[in-house]
Amino acid sequence: MATIFSKIVAGEIPSYKVAEDANFYAFLDINPLAQGHTLVIPKREVDYFFDLTDEEIGAMQIFAKKVAVAIKEAFPCIKVGQAVLGLEVPHAHIHLVPMQSEKDMLFSNPKLKFTAEEFAETAQKINSKWVAE
Ligand code: AMP
Repeated sequence: MATIFSKIVAGEIPSYKVAEDANFYAFLDINPLAQGHTLVIPKREVDYFFDLTDEEIGAMQIFAKKVAVAIKEAFPCIKVGQAVLGLEVPHAHIHLVPMQSEKDMLFSNPKLKFTAEEFAETAQKINSKWVAE
């Protein structure tokens, strides 16, 4: 059965898309630690990040880097933090979180609430800074 993230890639479940290429997809985390918190996933359905091939991990990291650059331009921050963790969704994903402090990366923090319109604006703002090549 397809994961919820594969359904997002297929357009069967809506998402606030930030960026996409042939192999990877980036969209806003619906329970963000900070405004601009983005998930990067491979389109190929693999549960465990370290089961991706060397080539996939390399290409995914380069894709995530470009997304991080766009996030930082859209939402100025000290750094964009990156994390691979969590057991909730069995589809490999990288969290990218704009940080004003290391505490912004604590996944035990309460999650922020935004309206659908605010999420859409946030995704659009990051996407406007996205450079595909
Ligand atoms: P984890 O596996 O612990 O890294 O958590 C998966 C992340 O995916 C959580 O931060 C969720 O908020 C996020 N998430 C789950 N479903 C969706 C969805 N439909 N759209 C956006 N983010 C989601």
